[in-house]
Amino acid sequence: MAKMRVAQVSRAGGPFELVERDIPEPGPGQVRIRVHACGVCHSDSVVKEGHFPGIVFPRVPGHEAVGQVDKLGAGVTGFRTGQRVGVGWNGGYCGRCNFCRRGDFFACTGPHEITGVTTDGGFAEYMLALENAVALVPDELTAVEAGPLMCAGITTFNALRNSGARGSDLVAVLGLGGLGHLGVQFAAKMGFRAVGIARGKDKEPLARQLGAWHYIDSQAQDPAAELQKLGGAKVILATVTAGDAMSAAMGGLAPNGTFLVLGTAESIQVSPGMLLRGRKSVKGWYSGTAIDSQDTLAFSVLTGVRSMNEEYPLDRVNEAYERMMSGKARFRAVLNIGK
Ligand SMILES: [Zn+2]
Ligand SMILES: [Zn+2]
Repeated sequence: MAKMRVAQVSRAGGPFELVERDIPEPGPGQVRIRVHACGVCHSDSVVKEGHFPGIVFPRVPGHEAVGQVDKLGAGVTGFRTGQRVGVGWNGGYCGRCNFCRRGDFFACTGPHEITGVTTDGGFAEYMLALENAVALVPDELTAVEAGPLMCAGITTFNALRNSGARGSDLVAVLGLGGLGHLGVQFAAKMGFRAVGIARGKDKEPLARQLGAWHYIDSQAQDPAAELQKLGGAKVILATVTAGDAMSAAMGGLAPNGTFLVLGTAESIQVSPGMLLRGRKSVKGWYSGTAIDSQDTLAFSVLTGVRSMNEEYPLDRVNEAYERMMSGKARFRAVLNIGK
Protein backbone atom coordinates (compact mmCIF):
# COMPACT_ATOMS: atom_id res chain seq x y z
CA MET A 1 0.00 0.00 0.00
CA ALA A 2 1.23 3.50 -0.86
CA LYS A 3 2.49 5.51 2.12
CA MET A 4 2.39 9.15 3.13
CA ARG A 5 4.06 11.30 5.78
CA VAL A 6 1.97 13.02 8.42
CA ALA A 7 2.75 15.17 11.47
CA GLN A 8 0.66 13.75 14.31
CA VAL A 9 0.20 14.52 18.00
CA SER A 10 -0.03 11.35 20.14
CA ARG A 11 -0.94 12.80 23.53
CA ALA A 12 -2.06 16.07 25.10
CA GLY A 13 0.97 18.38 25.30
CA GLY A 14 3.13 16.01 23.26
CA PRO A 15 5.28 17.09 20.29
CA PHE A 16 4.43 16.70 16.61
CA GLU A 17 5.83 13.37 15.39
CA LEU A 18 6.61 12.70 11.72
CA VAL A 19 5.27 9.23 10.93
CA GLU A 20 4.42 7.15 7.86
CA ARG A 21 0.86 6.00 7.34
CA ASP A 22 -1.07 4.29 4.58
CA ILE A 23 -2.63 6.81 2.21
CA PRO A 24 -6.33 6.73 3.23
CA GLU A 25 -9.15 5.76 0.87
CA PRO A 26 -12.00 8.29 0.57
CA GLY A 27 -15.30 7.04 2.01
CA PRO A 28 -18.78 7.94 0.73
CA GLY A 29 -19.13 11.71 0.28
CA GLN A 30 -15.42 12.34 0.83
CA VAL A 31 -12.69 13.66 -1.44
CA ARG A 32 -9.03 12.83 -1.01
CA ILE A 33 -6.68 15.80 -1.28
CA ARG A 34 -2.97 15.78 -2.05
CA VAL A 35 -1.99 18.58 0.35
CA HIS A 36 0.47 21.17 -1.00
CA ALA A 37 0.48 23.63 1.90
CA CYS A 38 -1.16 24.11 5.29
CA GLY A 39 -1.07 27.13 7.57
CA VAL A 40 -0.38 26.80 11.30
CA CYS A 41 -3.11 28.44 13.40
CA HIS A 42 -3.42 29.33 17.09
CA SER A 43 -6.47 27.04 17.20
CA ASP A 44 -4.21 24.06 16.46
CA SER A 45 -3.28 24.36 20.14
CA VAL A 46 -6.67 22.87 21.12
CA VAL A 47 -5.39 19.64 19.59
CA LYS A 48 -1.73 19.94 20.55
CA GLU A 49 -2.50 20.71 24.21
CA GLY A 50 -5.54 18.42 24.33
CA HIS A 51 -7.97 21.21 25.23
CA PHE A 52 -10.71 20.13 22.85
CA PRO A 53 -13.30 18.00 24.70
CA GLY A 54 -13.26 14.36 23.68
CA ILE A 55 -10.32 14.64 21.32
CA VAL A 56 -8.99 11.29 20.10
CA PHE A 57 -5.22 10.79 19.74
CA PRO A 58 -3.18 10.35 17.64
CA ARG A 59 -4.49 13.29 15.65
CA VAL A 60 -3.10 15.21 12.65
CA PRO A 61 -3.97 18.93 13.06
CA GLY A 62 -4.19 21.50 10.27
CA HIS A 63 -7.25 23.45 9.07
CA GLU A 64 -5.66 25.82 6.53
CA ALA A 65 -5.05 23.09 3.96
CA VAL A 66 -4.70 23.66 0.22
CA GLY A 67 -3.93 21.07 -2.46
CA GLN A 68 -5.41 19.12 -5.32
CA VAL A 69 -8.30 16.66 -5.48
CA ASP A 70 -6.67 13.27 -5.87
CA LYS A 71 -9.52 10.76 -5.58
CA LEU A 72 -13.31 10.87 -5.13
CA GLY A 73 -15.37 8.75 -2.75
CA ALA A 74 -18.71 7.22 -3.72
CA GLY A 75 -21.45 9.75 -4.44
CA VAL A 76 -19.24 12.84 -4.79
CA THR A 77 -20.58 14.89 -7.69
CA GLY A 78 -19.39 18.46 -7.03
CA PHE A 79 -15.67 17.95 -7.64
CA ARG A 80 -13.35 16.16 -10.02
CA THR A 81 -9.78 14.98 -9.69
CA GLY A 82 -7.09 17.56 -10.42
CA GLN A 83 -9.07 20.56 -9.12
CA ARG A 84 -7.24 22.88 -6.73
CA VAL A 85 -9.09 23.03 -3.42
CA GLY A 86 -8.82 24.07 0.21
CA VAL A 87 -10.34 23.08 3.55
CA GLY A 88 -10.79 25.28 6.62
CA TRP A 89 -12.02 24.83 10.22
CA ASN A 90 -15.53 23.77 9.10
CA GLY A 91 -15.07 20.12 8.20
CA GLY A 92 -18.60 19.56 6.92
CA TYR A 93 -22.19 19.61 8.20
CA CYS A 94 -25.23 17.35 8.05
CA GLY A 95 -27.58 19.57 6.03
CA ARG A 96 -30.59 18.10 7.89
CA CYS A 97 -30.58 19.42 11.48
CA ASN A 98 -32.73 22.45 12.31
CA PHE A 99 -29.74 24.84 12.23
CA CYS A 100 -28.64 23.56 8.82
CA ARG A 101 -32.25 23.80 7.58
CA ARG A 102 -32.18 27.50 8.53
CA GLY A 103 -28.90 27.99 6.68
CA ASP A 104 -26.77 28.24 9.84
CA PHE A 105 -24.44 25.44 8.76
CA PHE A 106 -21.72 26.62 11.15
CA ALA A 107 -23.98 25.70 14.09
CA CYS A 108 -24.77 22.18 12.83
CA THR A 109 -25.81 19.83 15.63
CA GLY A 110 -26.13 16.76 13.42
CA PRO A 111 -23.13 14.71 12.32
CA HIS A 112 -20.44 17.31 11.54
CA GLU A 113 -16.65 17.58 11.55
CA ILE A 114 -13.93 20.06 12.50
CA THR A 115 -10.92 19.74 10.23
CA GLY A 116 -7.80 18.61 12.06
CA VAL A 117 -9.74 18.28 15.34
CA THR A 118 -12.42 15.61 14.89
CA THR A 119 -10.75 14.41 11.67
CA ASP A 120 -7.12 14.29 10.52
CA GLY A 121 -6.17 17.58 8.88
CA GLY A 122 -3.59 19.13 6.60
CA PHE A 123 -0.26 18.56 8.36
CA ALA A 124 0.08 15.62 5.99
CA GLU A 125 0.75 14.72 2.37
CA TYR A 126 -2.83 13.51 1.94
CA MET A 127 -6.08 14.14 3.78
CA LEU A 128 -9.77 13.32 3.44
CA ALA A 129 -12.56 15.90 3.56
CA LEU A 130 -16.35 15.84 3.27
CA GLU A 131 -17.52 17.28 -0.02
CA ASN A 132 -19.41 20.18 1.62
CA ALA A 133 -16.23 21.29 3.44
CA VAL A 134 -14.23 21.77 0.23
CA ALA A 135 -13.62 25.18 -1.42
CA LEU A 136 -12.27 25.76 -4.92
CA VAL A 137 -8.96 27.66 -5.04
CA PRO A 138 -8.36 30.11 -7.92
CA ASP A 139 -5.26 29.71 -10.12
CA GLU A 140 -4.03 33.19 -9.19
CA LEU A 141 -3.06 32.04 -5.68
CA THR A 142 -0.25 29.62 -4.85
CA ALA A 143 -0.98 26.95 -2.23
CA VAL A 144 1.19 28.79 0.31
CA GLU A 145 -0.68 32.06 -0.40
CA ALA A 146 -4.11 30.44 -0.18
CA GLY A 147 -3.44 28.37 2.98
CA PRO A 148 -3.72 31.14 5.62
CA LEU A 149 -6.79 32.54 3.86
CA MET A 150 -8.64 29.30 4.77
CA CYS A 151 -8.80 30.27 8.48
CA ALA A 152 -7.09 33.58 9.35
CA GLY A 153 -8.41 35.03 6.08
CA ILE A 154 -12.00 33.76 6.06
CA THR A 155 -12.40 34.62 9.75
CA THR A 156 -11.44 38.28 9.38
CA PHE A 157 -13.01 38.74 5.92
CA ASN A 158 -16.32 37.10 6.83
CA ALA A 159 -16.54 38.87 10.20
CA LEU A 160 -15.97 42.26 8.56
CA ARG A 161 -18.37 41.77 5.66
CA ASN A 162 -21.12 40.70 8.08
CA SER A 163 -20.35 43.38 10.68
CA GLY A 164 -22.79 46.00 9.44
CA ALA A 165 -19.98 48.49 8.73
CA ARG A 166 -20.40 50.50 5.53
CA GLY A 167 -17.98 52.35 3.28
CA SER A 168 -16.01 55.06 5.13
CA ASP A 169 -17.05 53.76 8.59
CA LEU A 170 -14.29 53.70 11.20
CA VAL A 171 -13.23 50.08 11.72
CA ALA A 172 -10.45 49.26 14.18
CA VAL A 173 -8.40 46.08 14.08
CA LEU A 174 -6.90 45.14 17.43
CA GLY A 175 -3.67 43.18 16.96
CA LEU A 176 -1.39 42.91 13.93
CA GLY A 177 -0.53 39.21 13.97
CA GLY A 178 -1.68 36.36 11.75
CA LEU A 179 -5.33 37.46 11.78
CA GLY A 180 -4.84 41.18 12.34
CA HIS A 181 -2.47 41.80 9.43
CA LEU A 182 -5.14 40.33 7.14
CA GLY A 183 -7.95 42.15 8.97
CA VAL A 184 -6.37 45.57 8.30
CA GLN A 185 -5.96 44.74 4.61
CA PHE A 186 -9.55 43.51 4.24
CA ALA A 187 -10.94 46.51 6.17
CA ALA A 188 -9.02 48.95 3.95
CA LYS A 189 -9.99 47.17 0.72
CA MET A 190 -13.67 47.09 1.78
CA GLY A 191 -13.55 50.88 1.93
CA PHE A 192 -13.53 51.34 5.70
CA ARG A 193 -11.34 53.84 7.52
CA ALA A 194 -9.11 51.13 8.96
CA VAL A 195 -7.39 51.80 12.28
CA GLY A 196 -4.57 49.46 13.30
CA ILE A 197 -4.02 49.00 17.06
CA ALA A 198 -0.91 47.20 18.29
CA ARG A 199 1.81 47.42 20.91
CA GLY A 200 4.72 49.75 20.05
CA LYS A 201 5.44 52.63 17.68
CA ASP A 202 7.57 50.31 15.54
CA LYS A 203 4.44 48.57 14.13
CA GLU A 204 3.09 51.80 12.60
CA PRO A 205 4.92 51.52 9.23
CA LEU A 206 3.59 47.98 8.84
CA ALA A 207 0.04 49.06 9.66
CA ARG A 208 0.27 51.86 7.09
CA GLN A 209 1.72 49.50 4.50
CA LEU A 210 -1.26 47.17 5.06
CA GLY A 211 -3.63 50.05 4.33
CA ALA A 212 -4.36 51.49 7.79
CA TRP A 213 -5.64 55.07 7.66
CA HIS A 214 -4.61 55.61 11.28
CA TYR A 215 -2.46 53.81 13.85
CA ILE A 216 -2.76 53.60 17.65
CA ASP A 217 0.15 52.44 19.81
CA SER A 218 -1.62 50.71 22.71
CA GLN A 219 1.54 50.85 24.88
CA ALA A 220 1.88 54.63 24.75
CA GLN A 221 -1.77 55.58 24.23
CA ASP A 222 -5.20 54.62 25.62
CA PRO A 223 -6.79 52.88 22.61
CA ALA A 224 -10.37 53.58 23.78
CA ALA A 225 -9.70 57.32 24.23
CA GLU A 226 -7.86 57.57 20.90
CA LEU A 227 -10.73 55.89 19.04
CA GLN A 228 -13.21 58.26 20.71
CA LYS A 229 -11.11 61.23 19.49
CA LEU A 230 -11.70 59.89 15.96
CA GLY A 231 -15.46 59.71 16.58
CA GLY A 232 -15.64 56.13 17.84
CA ALA A 233 -15.43 52.86 15.95
CA LYS A 234 -18.41 51.29 14.22
CA VAL A 235 -16.61 47.97 14.59
CA ILE A 236 -13.60 46.82 16.61
CA LEU A 237 -12.25 43.52 15.29
CA ALA A 238 -10.45 41.92 18.24
CA THR A 239 -7.85 39.48 16.90
CA VAL A 240 -5.60 39.32 19.98
CA THR A 241 -5.74 36.50 22.52
CA ALA A 242 -5.23 38.74 25.60
CA GLY A 243 -8.45 39.58 27.43
CA ASP A 244 -7.04 42.72 29.09
CA ALA A 245 -6.05 44.17 25.70
CA MET A 246 -9.60 43.56 24.47
CA SER A 247 -11.17 45.14 27.56
CA ALA A 248 -8.94 48.22 27.19
CA ALA A 249 -10.10 48.87 23.61
CA MET A 250 -13.82 48.23 24.04
CA GLY A 251 -14.54 51.77 25.25
CA GLY A 252 -13.59 53.00 21.78
CA LEU A 253 -16.89 51.93 20.22
CA ALA A 254 -19.22 54.52 18.68
CA PRO A 255 -22.96 54.36 19.52
CA ASN A 256 -24.44 51.22 17.91
CA GLY A 257 -20.88 49.91 17.55
CA THR A 258 -19.97 46.25 17.67
CA PHE A 259 -17.01 44.67 19.39
CA LEU A 260 -16.28 41.54 17.32
CA VAL A 261 -14.34 38.89 19.19
CA LEU A 262 -12.16 36.59 17.07
CA GLY A 263 -9.32 35.81 19.50
CA THR A 264 -9.81 33.05 22.07
CA ALA A 265 -9.02 35.01 25.26
CA GLU A 266 -9.75 33.41 28.65
CA SER A 267 -12.17 36.18 29.64
CA ILE A 268 -13.00 39.82 28.91
CA GLN A 269 -14.41 42.63 31.05
CA VAL A 270 -17.46 44.39 29.68
CA SER A 271 -19.14 47.46 31.18
CA PRO A 272 -22.93 46.95 31.10
CA GLY A 273 -23.37 50.72 31.40
CA MET A 274 -21.30 51.33 28.28
CA LEU A 275 -23.30 48.72 26.36
CA LEU A 276 -26.74 50.00 27.25
CA ARG A 277 -26.04 53.74 27.11
CA GLY A 278 -24.53 53.48 23.64
CA ARG A 279 -26.68 50.55 22.44
CA LYS A 280 -23.41 48.72 21.79
CA SER A 281 -22.83 45.01 21.43
CA VAL A 282 -20.16 42.41 21.94
CA LYS A 283 -20.33 39.37 19.72
CA GLY A 284 -18.23 36.51 18.50
CA TRP A 285 -17.78 35.40 14.94
CA TYR A 286 -17.41 31.88 13.60
CA SER A 287 -15.09 31.70 10.58
CA GLY A 288 -17.49 30.38 7.92
CA THR A 289 -18.17 27.52 5.56
CA ALA A 290 -16.62 26.47 2.25
CA ILE A 291 -18.47 29.01 0.11
CA ASP A 292 -17.30 31.80 2.46
CA SER A 293 -13.74 30.56 1.87
CA GLN A 294 -14.26 30.79 -1.88
CA ASP A 295 -15.52 34.35 -1.46
CA THR A 296 -12.46 35.18 0.69
CA LEU A 297 -10.12 33.82 -1.98
CA ALA A 298 -11.97 35.63 -4.78
CA PHE A 299 -11.87 38.95 -2.88
CA SER A 300 -8.15 38.47 -2.18
CA VAL A 301 -7.43 37.88 -5.87
CA LEU A 302 -9.49 40.95 -6.84
CA THR A 303 -7.93 43.33 -4.35
CA GLY A 304 -4.41 41.96 -3.82
CA VAL A 305 -4.88 41.01 -0.15
CA ARG A 306 -2.19 38.50 0.79
CA SER A 307 -0.96 36.86 3.95
CA MET A 308 2.71 37.49 4.76
CA ASN A 309 4.12 34.04 5.38
CA GLU A 310 7.07 32.22 6.86
CA GLU A 311 7.45 28.89 5.07
CA TYR A 312 8.54 25.65 6.72
CA PRO A 313 8.88 22.11 5.36
CA LEU A 314 6.66 19.49 7.04
CA ASP A 315 9.55 18.04 9.06
CA ARG A 316 10.04 21.43 10.80
CA VAL A 317 6.43 21.55 12.04
CA ASN A 318 7.48 21.80 15.71
CA GLU A 319 9.52 24.93 14.95
CA ALA A 320 6.67 26.43 12.90
CA TYR A 321 4.22 25.80 15.77
CA GLU A 322 6.54 27.34 18.40
CA ARG A 323 7.05 30.42 16.18
CA MET A 324 3.30 30.89 15.85
CA MET A 325 2.60 30.35 19.57
CA SER A 326 5.39 32.77 20.58
CA GLY A 327 3.71 35.51 18.55
CA LYS A 328 7.00 36.13 16.71
CA ALA A 329 5.95 34.71 13.33
CA ARG A 330 5.85 37.40 10.61
CA PHE A 331 2.94 36.86 10.20
CA ARG A 332 1.69 33.39 9.44
CA ALA A 333 3.68 30.15 9.61
CA VAL A 334 2.84 27.90 6.66
CA LEU A 335 3.94 24.33 6.01
CA ASN A 336 5.01 23.92 2.39
CA ILE A 337 4.28 20.25 1.76
CA GLY A 338 4.92 20.55 -1.99
CA LYS A 339 5.12 17.59 -4.34
ZN1 LIG B 1 -7.58 28.53 12.59
ZN1 LIG C 1 -26.66 20.09 10.58
